[in-house]
Amino acid sequence: MATAITLCVMLVSSWFFYSRTVQLLTDSLHQRLLAIVTTGSAQFSAEEINRLQTESDWQKPEWKKVVGQLRDIRERNPDILFAYLFRKSRQNSQDMEFVADSHSLNPYANSDADESNNVDPNGDGIIDEVDVLQWPGQPYPTPPREAFLAYEKPMTNTDLYEDQWGKVLTGYAPIRNEEGETVAVLAVDIRAEDFSVITRKTLIPFLIFCFLLGVIIVCLSVSIMRAGHYRIQLLQELDLQKDKVLHMVAHQLKGPVSAIDFVTEMLLDGSFGSLTEEQKNNIQAIRTSSQAMKSHSSMVLDAAHISLGKQLPIKKEAVDLHSFIHTIAESALLHARKRQVRLHINVPSALPKANLDAKYTEIALENLLSNALKYTALKHPSGGGDVYFTVELKSQKLLCTVRDTGIGIPEKDKENIFKKLSRASNSGSEGTGLGLHVAMGAIESQGGTIRYESTENVGTTFFVELPLQTV
Ligand code: ADP
Repeated sequence: MATAITLCVMLVSSWFFYSRTVQLLTDSLHQRLLAIVTTGSAQFSAEEINRLQTESDWQKPEWKKVVGQLRDIRERNPDILFAYLFRKSRQNSQDMEFVADSHSLNPYANSDADESNNVDPNGDGIIDEVDVLQWPGQPYPTPPREAFLAYEKPMTNTDLYEDQWGKVLTGYAPIRNEEGETVAVLAVDIRAEDFSVITRKTLIPFLIFCFLLGVIIVCLSVSIMRAGHYRIQLLQELDLQKDKVLHMVAHQLKGPVSAIDFVTEMLLDGSFGSLTEEQKNNIQAIRTSSQAMKSHSSMVLDAAHISLGKQLPIKKEAVDLHSFIHTIAESALLHARKRQVRLHINVPSALPKANLDAKYTEIALENLLSNALKYTALKHPSGGGDVYFTVELKSQKLLCTVRDTGIGIPEKDKENIFKKLSRASNSGSEGTGLGLHVAMGAIESQGGTIRYESTENVGTTFFVELPLQTV
């Protein structure tokens, strides 16, 4: 459809371009002809023309002069077919009569017995009635409308017209006496055949070339677009397959990791007999690693879940907000100590019980806090820097703000920060690029919002709003 429209547009614009060029060339031809007749008409003397009234006046010297001037005009340009003078008839101003033309030196030439006098105005090699020679007073049988209008001002025919001499354009200019009255009109017929042929011969191949070029460009663009579209589909398909594999692997990992966690816990609490201090330390190390693995595989599982367009398995339940927030804050304090970052906690002393998904809200808030600590520590490698964790309850909404004084997010990365596997260019090597993606899914699945403001090298603030039903 788009290709057909493009081709139509190209055809129409080619045609427009062609007609516009023809019009411009025609206009310039009209202008040139007007210049020829206007300068030509200025050479004639109105008195001399007035002295040439009847047939017999062709023998007067003025006649020779006028015909000579007409011939000069004609010979100046090989495309000029005829140059002639005419005027309104004295008997009837609705009729026209000729005064002379450039071939008229001897109007009787072609009827002379002496054929050497013959004149062949149209140059076809045959002397016949078409080779008319004008003399003073001879009627102008069918003068065109422009012949009358030219009494007022110089003009040309509006359009090219075809007569026995081919395609012709005529220009007219009045010849005035000292009182400003028009005594005759100079007419110049110019051959326009070559002009239209040249226009056609040069422009049409050019337009065909442009059109074909356009067709090739359109075909190429269409095939490039199709290839691009196919590539995108292929990549989307691959991405989907990858998410399915990730989802499956993370799901399969959950069982063994939970088993390790369970068994190590039992070992540690002495269910299988007492352990030496060294054994305890080693088993604790296994447990810490298995818990990290559990948290990573559950993040991968959640990210794959979101990518596959599935809702996270949100389960809202009555949660004591006070102890819930304090547990998160305490765990963050432990991390802050490890990272040597000052964590400032601003939580109301009394918080109600409310309905929310504890697991996913905790995942989201923990991720924001651990990012804030991690990227603040990255800016202050030898310790220092502050993170502020604020919680408020406003109009049935839990508002959590995590502000840090870390590396900030560069402008060019801001757009993609919540996308899966997206990491900013300044974020170092520690991280997966999954945390914010899952945090956003966790908050939005509960009808909440998450957004941030950040300035590179100054810090970042994340704002979470969660609608709450207090119980
Ligand atoms: P990661 O495991 O890499 O931290 P996240 O999904 O949690 O992945 O975050 C995505 C990216 O967003 C990070 O890699 C980091 O570039 C940027 N980011 C997130 N939080 C912060 C923050 N508090 N300060 C600076 N950059 C941050």
